[in-house]
Amino acid sequence: MRTGTKTASQFDVQRIRADFPALAQTVHGYPLVYLDNAATSQKPRVVIDEMMRFYTQDCANVHRGVHLLSERSTAAYEGARETVRRFLNARSTREIVFTRGATEAVNLVAQTYGRANVGPGDEILITALEHHSNIVPWQMLAEEKQAVLRVAPVDDRGEVILEEFERLIGPRTKIVALAHVSNALGTINPAAEMVRIAHREGAVVLVDGAQAVPHMQADMRRLDCDFYVFSGHKTFGPTGIGVLYGKAALLEAMPPWQGGGDMIRSVTFEKTLYNDLPYKFEAGTPHIAGAIGLGAALDYMTAIGMDRIAEYEHELLEYGTEALLGVEGVRLIGTARKKAAVLSFVMEGVHPHDIATILDRRGIAIRAGHHCAQPIMERFGVPATSRVSLAFYNTRQEIDALVEGLGWVKEVFA
Ligand code: PMP
Repeated sequence: MRTGTKTASQFDVQRIRADFPALAQTVHGYPLVYLDNAATSQKPRVVIDEMMRFYTQDCANVHRGVHLLSERSTAAYEGARETVRRFLNARSTREIVFTRGATEAVNLVAQTYGRANVGPGDEILITALEHHSNIVPWQMLAEEKQAVLRVAPVDDRGEVILEEFERLIGPRTKIVALAHVSNALGTINPAAEMVRIAHREGAVVLVDGAQAVPHMQADMRRLDCDFYVFSGHKTFGPTGIGVLYGKAALLEAMPPWQGGGDMIRSVTFEKTLYNDLPYKFEAGTPHIAGAIGLGAALDYMTAIGMDRIAEYEHELLEYGTEALLGVEGVRLIGTARKKAAVLSFVMEGVHPHDIATILDRRGIAIRAGHHCAQPIMERFGVPATSRVSLAFYNTRQEIDALVEGLGWVKEVFA
């Protein structure tokens, strides 16, 4: 096996690893090899420090107090919103709504935009490779409104069949929801092209960026989608915070979601006037520390450079693909021509859970299961896969350790 930590682009992965305290530990006596980044990512020290700073110095509620701590807290929270805007290349911070995560953001759109705009006989189009959180909210909406949920199929590589996708969009299609990157297969959808196709028919498009934002530039002006969602915790930020991007004109026209403090301009028992964007969609005290941590995470990635991250990870994914294909009995599930960060596989004669359990005994963390994407597992005729998911702090040596680990798995099952 080849070794070496620097790629052609001279990406100094050891320096980056030193920023992530969790990576330095041993697990069951072995150095941790963390390959479960699609489930959640580890956090750089700067994220932990910024959150700690909020709680040790600036802790106060936002948008309310006139005292100094509240001013500092509000400035940090709104500063994080500006960081997200810049990161996504959105036009305005009015288009950036903080949520609990990608899941909550999809539900917000389904229950506000969806409820207001989808009626009986209307159609919602998703793709066959969606995560449950980009399936179930639309199913719930379709059920409530007697609308029809349509699903664009994928081919044997795990690529959405674009002709089918196009064929399934018609005048009744109100919403199209698609993953930017599949969490189960790693497929990168041609999101900009799919948005263009959907817009030609007048449909509104939500792109689920939960697995894209940690790996590549997500540019709202280039994508031109109407809504985009992602989670902080998969993006080297804290849990419990996520983002809904929405075009201002759409967000303006949408009814609010949850009612409560901060989302109002004035309240009487007769009538409530709602607040401006984005606060109209942020009822109650938000996850202030979470937003601050997320801002720090995005700044951290920007400082490394999203292009460099994508390039490094691409090389690592190619290395991993080759390495796994070299293991006898391993079959990759998801072989799209454009992929990011994910290696899903099955191994002849061994259940994915057994693989993950044995690897864990050697300090190697991977995921086994249906990855909250049961329909795509069914499409490939497997109940579950083992999934290796990479981040920019992973190395070729860790892939080598994985391959060695699969050797132990084979010994156990020989
Ligand atoms: N979409 C995709 C593609 C995902 O991978 C995930 C998380 N696995 C989600 C949405 C949901 O993210 P969260 O649980 O953070 O809300």
